[in-house]
Formats: sequence, C-alpha cells, structure tokens
Amino acid sequence: MSPYQANLSHDGQKWTAKDGLTRGLPTYGVIKPESHIRQQSNNDKIWEVIVIGAGYTGLIAARDLVKAGKKALLLEARDRVGGRTWSAQVDGTTYEMGGTWVSHVHGRLFAEMQRYGLKDEVQMTRTDDGGCSYFTLDTGSGSRKLSLKEASDMTMRAWRIFVNFDGNDGRSICPLPYSTLGNSRVTFEQVKAVDQLSCRDRIEQIRDQLSADELALLESLVPHICAGAVEDVGFLEMLRAQALQGFTPETFEEVWTLYKIREGQSTLARRVFDDAVRLGLQYSFKTPVKSIVQDKQGIVSITTTATGGETTTYRAKRVINTIPLTVLSTIHFDPPLSPLRQEAIKIGHLNHLTKIHAEVEGDLRGLRGCTWPGDLLYVYGDGFCAGEKSTRITSFAGDNRGKLDPLKEPERLATALQRFHPMNIKKIVFHDWLSDPYSMAGPAWYRTGYLTKYLAELQKRHGNVLMANSDWASGWRAFIEGAMEQGALAADTAMDEVGILGANTPPLSAQSML
Ligand SMILES: Cc1cc2nc3c(=O)[nH]c(=O)nc-3n(C[C@H](O)[C@H](O)[C@H](O)COP(=O)(O)OP(=O)(O)OC[C@H]3O[C@@H](n4cnc5c(N)ncnc54)[C@H](O)[C@@H]3O)c2cc1C
Repeated sequence: MSPYQANLSHDGQKWTAKDGLTRGLPTYGVIKPESHIRQQSNNDKIWEVIVIGAGYTGLIAARDLVKAGKKALLLEARDRVGGRTWSAQVDGTTYEMGGTWVSHVHGRLFAEMQRYGLKDEVQMTRTDDGGCSYFTLDTGSGSRKLSLKEASDMTMRAWRIFVNFDGNDGRSICPLPYSTLGNSRVTFEQVKAVDQLSCRDRIEQIRDQLSADELALLESLVPHICAGAVEDVGFLEMLRAQALQGFTPETFEEVWTLYKIREGQSTLARRVFDDAVRLGLQYSFKTPVKSIVQDKQGIVSITTTATGGETTTYRAKRVINTIPLTVLSTIHFDPPLSPLRQEAIKIGHLNHLTKIHAEVEGDLRGLRGCTWPGDLLYVYGDGFCAGEKSTRITSFAGDNRGKLDPLKEPERLATALQRFHPMNIKKIVFHDWLSDPYSMAGPAWYRTGYLTKYLAELQKRHGNVLMANSDWASGWRAFIEGAMEQGALAADTAMDEVGILGANTPPLSAQSML
C-alpha cells in the first residue's frame, strides 16, 4: 500500500460512454501545499541553484543538490511531480499515464528504487495467462490469431535482419551507445553516414528477406517504439536502441514493456521529492517559467507567471533547466540560445504518441495484438483492475495528428480497441501529451540526420544555465533512466561550481557568451 493520498490533478483524461470525456485524475503526485518558500520577499535573494521542472531530471538534480547542502529552489508549472512519468489512481486501480516500464538494465533507476524501498515492489504487464493468450495480427487484409511464441519469433526475426546493417548486429556502428557520436571503435564520420539513413531506407534494403507479416510487424514496431513514421525516423536511433538492450532482440520485451512499479511511478517520484524536502528543498508548483535572463555577472533571473497572472522573478547563481525539447520554444532566453540550438528546437523530435488505457470487463490479461495500419498499433493485457473482475489494458498509437484527436473523438479509441478483440469497455483513461503545454509531445526520438547534427549542441550549457533533460541524454534518451542521468550530471556540475569554485566566477564559456 502506498503511504500517499491521491489528490486530483489537472492532468489526465477519462472517458465513459455515459459521462463522455472528463478532465483531471487523482494521483499521489499532487503536492499540497503547492508552495514552500521560506523567504517570502524573494527580491534580494540569490539562490545557489534553481531547478526548473519536477520531472525525474529535476527531482534527481534537486535531491542531489540539497543532499550536498546546497540551497535549491524547484519551480514546476504543473500541480504535481513526475512530468512525463506519473500514475493515476482511478477507482482503486493504478494507471501509468506516461513513463512506465522499468528494467534492471536501467541502473540509475533501479538504484533509486532500491534506495526508496521499491526494488521488490514490481509487477508484470503482459502475463501469458488469463483470458485470451494469443496475439491478434490484423494487417488490413484480415485478422489472424498467432500463438505468442509465433508472434514473438516473427518480430525478432524481422528486427534482427533490420538492425544487422553492419553484419555485427549493430555493434560495429554503435559499439558504445553512450558515445554514439564517435569513440575508440567508430569515427564520427562513419556514424554520420549511417545517420543519413531513415528506417524506410533500411526497410527497402531488406524487404525481400521478410514475409508480408514480418514486414507489417517491423513497419508497426518502429512507430510503436518512437511514434514517428518509418520515413522520418533515423535508423541510427534503432541501432542505438538495439545496443542499449544488449545487441539482441531477445531482451526487447523484458527491457521495454514488462516490469512496472506496483504502486505506480508517482510513488517513486514522491519519495524522491519528499526526501529532497526533508533535506531542505524549497519549491513552488503551478509556477510556469516564462523567461530566463542572465546578466553580466552571471546571475540568472527567472520570471514566472502564477495561475492568477502575477509574475515573480527569482535569481540564482546556477539554473538547471529541465524543460523538454518541444517546450523550449515557449521560453524567452536572454542572451538568446545559440542559432544551432534554436534550429534543433524548431525541428523538434518526432514522437507524437498516444497511449491509452481501458478498463474492460472480464479477464483479458493475456490480450496482445497489432493492428497495422490502425488507429491504435499495439495492445497489451495489463493485469486485473481493483476487484479482479475487469482487466486493465494498455494500447499505443503512432503519430495520429490530423487523423484522430483523442480529445475530440474519444469514442473512436473504443472502436479501435475492438479491432484487437471483442471487449466491453467500462472506461478509457489517458493523458493527451500532445495538447499538454508542458510536454507538447512524447519523449524524444530523432529524425534522420538529427542525432549527429544537434545532440552535442543540445547537451551544452547556456552560460550559467545547465540544460538537462532525458530528451538529449547520452544513454537511455527518451527513458526515465536518461532523465536520471541528466539530473545527476547537472547537479554534479552545479555543486562543483557553486560549492567549490565559487558561483560569482562564471565559467569561461559563460564569460565569453555574456
Ligand atoms: C506515454 C509515454 C510513455 C513512456 N514510457 C516509458 C517507459 O515505459 N519507460 C521509460 O523509462 N520511459 C518512458 N517514457 C519516457 C519518460 O517518461 C521520460 O523520458 C522522462 O519522464 C522524462 O523526464 P524529464 O524530467 O527529462 O522530462 P519531463 O518529465 O518532461 O520533466 C520536465 C518538467 O518540466 C516541467 N515544465 C515544462 N515547462 C515548464 C515551464 N515553462 N515552467 C516550469 N516547468 C515546466 C514539466 O511540467 C515537467 O514536469 C515514456 C514517456 C511517455 C510520454
């Protein structure tokens, strides 16, 4: 049992045939009171570090800072912690609205789960027993039922051929996935050449080696992974994914979509946050940042606008900015961001996913399937709902922009689910990440050519503003693990500069910029 009480957040949506669409779901992630800043007259105060954003990047950064004795302030636009990772509690059932699955290969994440007593509190999605233990493959020319093993073997065979671009399962091009841009085994130029290939280009190279079903599974798996079309997704992104999961398709399901925290991700996020508050973190939620301005002395001023419209300015020696890639264009920077970073932000990434859950009557825990093309691409049975008389199912769509807006046509989601299997839907629960002003997309997956052109720039600091987010992590980018990587690194840098070097001496890079 989670020790937390679920409070209603502004975030999340629920649809039932009777009540239609309603907004706002209860979660352990809501923070009350929403603000805790000891010094009310903020005017003369210069914080050691301000962290913008209470997703996992910001939470880890803030916790590490206060643990090292730094005076840190956390500013968050939402009413809750967790950012793109949060769980809702609806009628006694936990629904993961964003980041969900955990794996022991995510070392930083598992270390946090261990630290906060959650390493054994893990349950499985996609159990093989229960209800309908087969895989429905519906590729437009009719629906077939495959055994789970048949479907898995077909997917693995297609994926293995797909990633075996270098005759070495991707190892020759991406031997060290944290150093994708070049390392002792591969040069930047070699990597850049591969980055010019889209997933469509690669599929065309291997098309004649695949059956029609394998082709369909591969063409749908790419948008399932990254919610972009195979025409746009960089093939290098898939090689990186293959490398991270151990250069084999066999670990794909285990690493990506099997284990989750029983009490939900918001329980872990709350534990990190509460620990930080215990150690002295001050914070303000419902506090969207509008501008980030640095003066000649290297002091950073952050202006926020509260729900009522009043603006406040906070000043700090260092800022850790964890605002996602797609949202950065809404923030005013002075001095402006570099032209290359601005270009990267303008192009953005291509993950425009939809993830939905449904509560369906009866036992459909074994449910699995792929519909391609379809309004929803993949579905997983995801355990019983509270009371064990209905099942929670989880389903993903690729980029449905211009085709299906879940906020305008939620009943079409119900129709799309029926294509996997007949079911009696009691409710649909989701978070529309695309219309959310503080995400505007899913986690970052890059288009062809983007990684080698922009990743290094996105990782650079902007004077005394350290830019940290899972969207440009070196390792598990687009994962919770990547957020934790970024938060920990940024906190280390800020700690060194504020605590040891002295914050009034901007680093050389900042001096030359100001
Ligand atoms: C549907 C979905 C499924 C996913 N599945 C998985 C999975 O199974 N496993 C996994 O490991 N990862 C998964 N991810 C990815 C994972 O959730 C993210 O990589 C991670 O949560 C990003 O953390 P972050 O702190 O870097 O960014 P965010 O979580 O986006 O945090 C940024 C914070 O900044 C805040 N913010 C934005 N603008 C402002 C502003 N102007 N002022 C103040 N605050 C602002 C936001 O509200 C947010 O809280 C998934 C993500 C989604 C959306």
